Amino acid sequence: MAGIYVHVPFCHSKCAYCDFYSRAGLGAANAYIRALTNEFAERIGELGSHAVSTIYLGGGTPSILSAEQFLELTAIFKDFSPEEFTIETNPEDIESQRLETWLKSGVNRVSMGIQSLVDSELKAVGRRHSAEQAIASFRKIREAGFSNISCDLIYGLPGQTHESWRYSVDTLIALRPEHLSAYSLTIEPHTALGVRLRKGEFSETDDETIATFYDYLCKAASSAGYEHYEISNFALPGLYSRHNSAYWNSTPYLGLGPGAHSLGADGIRRYVEPDIRQYTSNPSQCLKTDYETETEKVNDVIFTALRTAKGLDLSSIPPEHLAELRKNAAPLAEAGQLHYDGSRLYISEEDWLMSDAIIRELLID
Ligand code: SF4
Repeated sequence: MAGIYVHVPFCHSKCAYCDFYSRAGLGAANAYIRALTNEFAERIGELGSHAVSTIYLGGGTPSILSAEQFLELTAIFKDFSPEEFTIETNPEDIESQRLETWLKSGVNRVSMGIQSLVDSELKAVGRRHSAEQAIASFRKIREAGFSNISCDLIYGLPGQTHESWRYSVDTLIALRPEHLSAYSLTIEPHTALGVRLRKGEFSETDDETIATFYDYLCKAASSAGYEHYEISNFALPGLYSRHNSAYWNSTPYLGLGPGAHSLGADGIRRYVEPDIRQYTSNPSQCLKTDYETETEKVNDVIFTALRTAKGLDLSSIPPEHLAELRKNAAPLAEAGQLHYDGSRLYISEEDWLMSDAIIRELLID
């Protein structure tokens, strides 16, 4: 099994918090699609004999592509029959022709960036859609025939209150998306929001409030039947994101497009430099290898696995590192922050918000 991720680095405009590699406008889209087609042909061998079971078009905003551009790009997948084929979208791009084109091309999962269902919060971070538009778009996607929809929310937005967060969570859950992702707002200094923070135009949400938001989300999702299977991800039973689960299980994946990362069947991580100009003139020059030491590889496995409900399967750790891992785990287990069930280590849901700090104590030297 393997996945393919395509990074589409175009957006209508830049959201105030966004740190992803993307640029506003579709100016370079045709040259990008040609470069991507070449990159695919040159690199598909990195997956070895693994069958492609998931495809994920992310970004950026892949739904910004016209129907023709979308068909030209996805022609590279003509020989695959993935179990899961996801496209990321924003509410303002949802219209019937696009939905029909996606369905006919085999897309079977739509992931929509809603972020909040409160207009003032959306406006504060430069989102282009309204809450009403997000709900209407969700219904249109459903009516078009998609039975697997994922929606994203952000907590810690400027101006967000306990009440407004509860409203966003409850309203979204009432729509019954099959999958929910929720992320705590991270403010990078070089983003528009980072600049506004430095100017003192708003204050960051404190940790205690963030913890309360997260707690509400976990409880609301659980009582609505969602399984909390990764720190930021919830799904109705059997509807976990297969593509993202593959990342967490160290399954090989090929990342195409500027800014994309890969894990080859040879265990080597590679990335494509986030430079659209260089990419469109010569994509192979943008491909770089991320040389990892053995220790870094093991720590990657520990870090990703412990963010999931399943936790870390100890048989995935090379025997020569097990003693050190167990030694590091002992005080955390004694403090009740880490649990051991015989074959795996895991962090319980109530400690997931502190998981980065717990995992740092566990990493091997
Ligand atoms: S739509 Fe998504 S990728 Fe594009 S700027 Fe906004 S957050 Fe970033």
